[in-house]
Amino acid sequence: MEGVELERIAHDVGTPCFVYSRAGIEHAWRQYDGALAGIAHEVCYAVKANSNLAVIDVLGRLGAGFDIVSAGELERVLAAGVPAERIVFSGVGKSDAEMAAALEAGVGCFNVESAQEIRRLAATAARTGRTAPVSLRVNPDIDALTHPYITTGLRENKFGIPIDEARGLYAQAAASPALAVRGIGCHIGSQLANIEPFLDALERLLALRDALAGDGIRLSHLNLGGGLGIRYRDESPPPPADLAGALVERLAGRDLVLVLEPGRSIVGNAGVLLTRVEYLKRNGEKRFAVVDAAMNDLLRPALYDAWHDVVPVKPRAGAPELYEIVGPICESGDFLARARALVLEPGDLLAVQSAGAYAFAMSSNYNTRPRAAEVMVDGDRYHVVRRRERVRDLFAGESVLPAGPVPA
Ligand SMILES: *Cc1c(COP(=O)(O)O)cnc(C)c1O
Repeated sequence: MEGVELERIAHDVGTPCFVYSRAGIEHAWRQYDGALAGIAHEVCYAVKANSNLAVIDVLGRLGAGFDIVSAGELERVLAAGVPAERIVFSGVGKSDAEMAAALEAGVGCFNVESAQEIRRLAATAARTGRTAPVSLRVNPDIDALTHPYITTGLRENKFGIPIDEARGLYAQAAASPALAVRGIGCHIGSQLANIEPFLDALERLLALRDALAGDGIRLSHLNLGGGLGIRYRDESPPPPADLAGALVERLAGRDLVLVLEPGRSIVGNAGVLLTRVEYLKRNGEKRFAVVDAAMNDLLRPALYDAWHDVVPVKPRAGAPELYEIVGPICESGDFLARARALVLEPGDLLAVQSAGAYAFAMSSNYNTRPRAAEVMVDGDRYHVVRRRERVRDLFAGESVLPAGPVPA
């Protein structure tokens, strides 16, 4: 990766281990930013895709904004030294405490998702003597044509405010002295392979914005969310510059700041998961390669039946066999890949590709497995940006009941 041998990182840091390319992350972000240069815009990286501080820092230095969905992500972005006004706060379930923390920090905008949330945000802002900048996330009822778990812009999804109810809520929000109405937004899904759903959503949001202008409510920004897909296998989503270009074409000349919130398309293909083969075994007709990474490290195959390419770091000569690539966890759903033609020996190092997004961020400690180390490569150097967890950290917060007689 860049100028560093993955074998060397695996040797020094151990496996499993996530490795990210700084250049890859920066390149993806610049594709958006560059292609949007013709219009007022903000590219707010969706922190949930990969929330490592080093990733936030690298993007922050480029001038990125950040889309967060929790007080935890807020703290991360602030800890990375990013000014709070570059943060937008999304999510359907913001608690009072999260709203208060974000108000106190001074985030740039709240993307609110329901009538109750609008009232609660107004109350929290009034109580703390602040004004909350708000944008309503509407649900444009658009089929993003992606996996059902990651489509978010259909009427039946939990996200956003039904578009036909939005005008009434804008009127309520505009009447509240504790709220400053700034924008309109949506986020229709993830891993989208086409530009059309974005353009359909844009049309619906622009129509609503014009209707609101007629009501005397002027919006300064329009947020189209994230969701552009990446290539895992044979998908061919448009490059970010194509999406951005199509948006610029439609928005040029409009007095509007375009906000995008890409996550996956910034980091997804800038990372790999390194794992070593522990054992090869055969049960009946199936061959298994048991590796040292598992579903707790990379959940996407188990959760969405997602496909990640698996490549040997040093390919061997020989006749390939079909392997199930499985982890050590006690679940039959613990697989990273199925039926891959590979030439393997125990000890071989494998790179699971496209593991920069929704990978470490979704990892867990199931089976009391310490979470993997994370490394960022920068040119011909690498840096451990999260040390491997230690087992003792995993139960440090636990305790047992006080000693006493054994109940009869
Ligand atoms: C998850 C999410 C994103 C990022 O989605 P990607 O598919 O990773 O680009 C952006 N905005 C919101 C509100 C999200 O929930």
